[in-house]
Amino acid sequence: MSLQIPYIGTVKSRFAEPANPGIMREEQSVIEIFEDYADGLFKIELSDYLEVYFHFDKAASYDLQTYTYTGDYKGVFATRSPRRPSQIGSTLVKLIERRGNTLVVQGLDALDGTPVLDIKPMHIPLTEEEVAGAEIHSRKNNPRKQVFSDIWANRTDRLMLDAARMHGHFCPGLALGVMMATRAMQLMRSNSDGLEDLLAITETNNCITDGIQYVTGCSFGNNGLIFKDIGKTAFTLARRDGKGYRIASRADAIEYMRQASPLFSESYQKVVAENDRSEEVVVKFKVTGIEKAFATLALDFDKLFTVEEVTVKIPAYAPVHESIVCDKCGEPVMASRIIHQNESNLCMPCAGHRTAELIGHGISIETNPNSAKE
Ligand SMILES: [Zn+2]
Ligand SMILES: [Zn+2]
Repeated sequence: MSLQIPYIGTVKSRFAEPANPGIMREEQSVIEIFEDYADGLFKIELSDYLEVYFHFDKAASYDLQTYTYTGDYKGVFATRSPRRPSQIGSTLVKLIERRGNTLVVQGLDALDGTPVLDIKPMHIPLTEEEVAGAEIHSRKNNPRKQVFSDIWANRTDRLMLDAARMHGHFCPGLALGVMMATRAMQLMRSNSDGLEDLLAITETNNCITDGIQYVTGCSFGNNGLIFKDIGKTAFTLARRDGKGYRIASRADAIEYMRQASPLFSESYQKVVAENDRSEEVVVKFKVTGIEKAFATLALDFDKLFTVEEVTVKIPAYAPVHESIVCDKCGEPVMASRIIHQNESNLCMPCAGHRTAELIGHGISIETNPNSAKE
């Protein structure tokens, strides 16, 4: 069975090529209705919102399962993919104005020249609470939806604004981490749900790693982050099968960045290298840091980094251990960290055991084992 549907008009849009639907929906476009159907627009301006049906005429074929723009892998009927058996697209748009047989609309994610099949009015009585509720519902289902959408649209400025909520300040390191992670995520085309199926292996413990944790979703807390104490501006993003990409700083990247903004290097030297925390110096560091961080995002990625396809060894999923209560301090401890001493179960500090710790200097062995209790 098949159905013949007449075209009733055409879309005029600034998008001639496929683009991120989120970005397309922010723009206005025009629907031109053919003369033969123009009378059908009578009183359409009484509707604020319209459902527009159109023909994905550039989609040659279909896929029954596909990746969505938010990084999920789903069946075609669970997505809005243009590659579908019917080749019919539909979007809810806001009617800005009608000019004769043309409609100016906002929110239409159809390419320039797309044939229009039908238009229907839509009444949306959404209250503010309903809008907020829908937003919370959507975030509960996919907490990283906005992050992935920003990654896909390469909106590194927005990603850095959000990453700074965790990092606390803007600096070129955060910018570099955001840039590296965004590129790696785009190459991998997969999102992280924080369940160790995507892993970030970072080779440095500094500002860069916060950009990497935020953008990749692979963090210290969800065991998606592996830290190799090598001291290189480099990181690898890999899937469980070990396949992934390593992005590393070029040898002349520091010089390239220094030339791009000499002012920041000066205050960085004072605050970070010489620990000068006087108010005037710190304020200058923060101001130039903001400028330099955003300027860094605009630098040429290929002059800063190398990108290499790699296969790496991935550790097994993190084990879950039962807790055992320390006989001395009474605090519960992961079973794998219990020390058996003179027939009692002790935590490492109570047993006087030295522990490995990740501090600003890197991974080291604690020098004074009782320091944690003092
Ligand atoms: Zn920083
Ligand atoms: Zn103890």
